[in-house]
Amino acid sequence: MELLAIPTFAINSQGRVLIWNRACERLTGVPAASVLGTDQHWRCFYSMPRPTLADLVLQDRQFDVPQLYDQHVRRSADGAGLTAQNWCDMPRLGLRRYLAADASPIRAGDGTLVAVVETLRDMTDEKQAQLALEQLATRDGLTGLANRRCFDHTLQAEWQRALRQQQSLSLLMVDVDNFKQYNDAYGHLGGDECLQRIASAVASEMRANDLVARYGGEEFAVILPNQALKGAAIVAERIRCRVEQLQLPNMDSHVTVSIGAATALPAPHNEISQLIATADAALYRAKHMGRNRISLTEAWEWAEKKLAQS
Ligand code: GH3
Ligand code: MG
Ligand code: MG
Repeated sequence: MELLAIPTFAINSQGRVLIWNRACERLTGVPAASVLGTDQHWRCFYSMPRPTLADLVLQDRQFDVPQLYDQHVRRSADGAGLTAQNWCDMPRLGLRRYLAADASPIRAGDGTLVAVVETLRDMTDEKQAQLALEQLATRDGLTGLANRRCFDHTLQAEWQRALRQQQSLSLLMVDVDNFKQYNDAYGHLGGDECLQRIASAVASEMRANDLVARYGGEEFAVILPNQALKGAAIVAERIRCRVEQLQLPNMDSHVTVSIGAATALPAPHNEISQLIATADAALYRAKHMGRNRISLTEAWEWAEKKLAQS
């Protein structure tokens, strides 16, 4: 094991380090001499005390794996070995690494556990590439907000959740007023900067479970789970004020937004598209009534009216 190219260490039945190979020294920056015989191997990976995967195998704690690791796989039917991946602090190196670990018990002929071997693989580059791809797939490049694809996905998921939990779901459609004129006056780069400032102003009004997305060019959409129309109206009005307070000059006044709000109590006969169409219609009304204002409709009422008409 000493000369294996794969970072490997082994602990004995008391949880003390028996083997710490060269590749493990290179991976952790910790020389074997300073960990052999101790039960302090966790310090090579983490800055706060916690078990390594080998310790979990030794202590028969496979049920703690999901809590302690980012990803894990249940390997064999007998539950003997564990496979898991995690970000590690690597205190000695001073830089975080994403490590994949496999830990397997070694048993004597009579079945008693004599040691646990853990092998490690540095997956940092793969993980970072994956995170960058996820970022590309879900974020809007200009504003850093969720993109349209992420919005569609989240709205679908929140609709299903609202249906299960019989909670209301609100949606705001936010459109910048007279943005064409802003572009004409300040150029497209000026317009881009304006969109970025509006995006962070809108995002700063959100709670943890809300989602604000760039829906299209100068339009933003806000998903407000478990929020009735009254609450949605309060959020919409806060967003409207917040943008006005940025005091970005446009035409004879400031950059403002119009907002359409809609709320649905999801029911099997209702559809998400109705919620979006209702918020859109409300936005159109806000524009029609003179811009820089909010307008409300309750989607389920609207849906029932439609049902009654048909
Ligand atoms: P209204 O009040 O009716 O919404 O008027 P408006 O001028 O905002 O609406 P319109 O749809 O006529 O124009 C939207 C403008 O937004 C036109 C388009 O060039 C601009 N726009 C869309 N996306 C971007 C972008 O990413 N950057 C910049 N700078 N401008 C954008
Ligand atoms: Mg628009
Ligand atoms: Mg507009």
